[in-house]
Amino acid sequence: SSDGELEPKKSICPFCGVGCGLTYNEDNGKGTGWEGPVNTRGELCPKGAAAFEMLDADDRITQPMVRENGHLVTASWEEAMDRVAENFGEIVEEHGPEALGFFASSNCTNEENYLLQKIARKIGTNTIDNCARLCHASTVAAMGKQLNVGAMTNTTDDLGEADVFLVCGANPAEQHPVIFNSYLGAALRDGTEMVHIDPRENQTTQQADMHVGVTPGYDIPVLNAMAKVIIEEELHDEEFVAERTEGFEAFEEHLADVDVAENAELAGVPEENIREAAHKVAEADRVASFTGMGMSQHKYGTDNVHALINLVLLTGNIGKPGTGVNPLRGQNNVQGAADVGASPSSLPGYQSVEDPEVRADFEEAWGFEPPAEPGLTEVEASHAAGDEIQGLYVFAENPAITEPHSDRIHEDLQEAFLVVQDLFMTETAEYADVILPGSAWAEKEGTYTNTDRRLQRVRQMRSPPGDAKSDLEIIAEFGRRMTDLEIDYDGAEAVFDELASVSPIYAGITYDGIGESYQRWPFYEGAESGVDILHEDEFYGGEKTAPFALVEHIDPGDEVEEGELVLTTGRVMQHFNSGALSRRTETLMRMRGEDVLEMHPTDAEERGIEDGDWVRVENERGEVEVEVAVTPAIAEGTVFMTFHYADPLVNRLTGDYLDPVAKIPEYKHSAVSVSKT
Ligand code: SF4
Repeated sequence: SSDGELEPKKSICPFCGVGCGLTYNEDNGKGTGWEGPVNTRGELCPKGAAAFEMLDADDRITQPMVRENGHLVTASWEEAMDRVAENFGEIVEEHGPEALGFFASSNCTNEENYLLQKIARKIGTNTIDNCARLCHASTVAAMGKQLNVGAMTNTTDDLGEADVFLVCGANPAEQHPVIFNSYLGAALRDGTEMVHIDPRENQTTQQADMHVGVTPGYDIPVLNAMAKVIIEEELHDEEFVAERTEGFEAFEEHLADVDVAENAELAGVPEENIREAAHKVAEADRVASFTGMGMSQHKYGTDNVHALINLVLLTGNIGKPGTGVNPLRGQNNVQGAADVGASPSSLPGYQSVEDPEVRADFEEAWGFEPPAEPGLTEVEASHAAGDEIQGLYVFAENPAITEPHSDRIHEDLQEAFLVVQDLFMTETAEYADVILPGSAWAEKEGTYTNTDRRLQRVRQMRSPPGDAKSDLEIIAEFGRRMTDLEIDYDGAEAVFDELASVSPIYAGITYDGIGESYQRWPFYEGAESGVDILHEDEFYGGEKTAPFALVEHIDPGDEVEEGELVLTTGRVMQHFNSGALSRRTETLMRMRGEDVLEMHPTDAEERGIEDGDWVRVENERGEVEVEVAVTPAIAEGTVFMTFHYADPLVNRLTGDYLDPVAKIPEYKHSAVSVSKT
């Protein structure tokens, strides 16, 4: 339909990585769940239920725009695409293809991301990334190193078999509510215990059996001390360690100097707490571990996750139902965006750009050899704007809000020729030189890959409004203007078929096979189905053993001076990431219209601050003003804000220290001063 009317079709929620089935209810004009494989009872959280509201938001962009004399004015598609091709063409001529950078979208389909990365590589650059860089890049790096693959090892269907859930720096009760309620909640009611390691008491903590209230940035002292207790008391799984791990002696030796009491003090938790958590994990038959951004968003986030994997290996909790290392992915297609190669170091299916054999295979399939040199990551590419990077193509991401040290990013974004393909006049689009109006989730066909490796299909329920176009068609047209690739796919399915043919982990998956259900990767050619639980008899890729990693605590980037507090950031259930979608959803804004700073009563009293007061939160990078909520839910010495709002923009305060391996920024630990305004 072209007049905005919606046809009910079985699609998938555009928000989080759970991937609930979502359709349109004509009777009440709202979103309604369908009993899909993920939400078997057809449940939705408030975000999913309100997901249709964004489609006709007031600032939906319905015509292309170009910047003239400093102002954005409407233009025809011809003019807008000419402007992109001329400017990008000149940049390539003058500075080479590496002077272009691409932000792909973890909120868009596999097919769109696949095509965009192929075009970027044909132009001649590997600088294509997506916002997995900002959430789980460190998790993927650590799991890749020890387990050969960075995805959830288990499935939501088997996690309930755990005796203990070990939840580190994640808040599934609020961030992955349907998984939590349907799967984990049922197990908790049946007696599964939960240990929650997190600086903040939230709805997950409320259902936990024990809370380890670690100071932000001090997870390794806790996890290493737990490993030390387990080894010292000989509680580890000797058989598993002997048969399926390597480097145990070196690991034991590495922990020789660890003093449990000292580590507990460093991490701000009682020693008994660590010992009890170690016992719970070691003595349970099956432990399923979860890791979230509380672990990953640090300048040593990769090491944090290594420390958790060590515990999992030590206790033999992998390769069985109800166990494993389970990163809960944030966006609906953040898993897929990386799977299909929207990454500066890997081609579709996690095949390394640096491997000459891999490049030769792609040359055969694509007709050109992809560049060999890994590209820049997202934060690196933003900072290089105006320098190494002269042209940036941002596809449905919002770096002006999501990247750390925002004041610097806002300057950076004005330094490059900026093309933004998006739905709304986002904070990033305001800096654009050209805006290409695209299609929302209910206006497109394709696939998303959810947090437990399931590919599901999204279906078009209406046409994009005005002159806005299908995202896949915009990307295809960009490719035709910039390259001599033959781009004449007959819809999203044809793009998917090509993707499956170059990506062994998707090789067995087809649109028909997915149907109204799902198919899970890895699904190898010739197999009957995808693999549910990874690492069962051997580790991914055929390895017999997995190594321990030797990691130790490194101080966070910001030093905390006398009188300062540690600011940590996170999410709430009613909003989503940069807020680009959820702040345009009236129902969600009614539920939580503004951000607050959570502060412990003792810290508030010391500063003469009362609940509801307005305060200035500042450091050398920037300042924001925000209302205070005084609550014992946040640890003393720590304050918390979400990253969903443009004002207050919390990332004005966060630092751009990057993890050396994964290049993820340290969002979870910033020194700040707080004073009454
Ligand atoms: Fe959407 Fe996630 Fe909520 Fe399900 S749990 S309705 S996928 S936001």
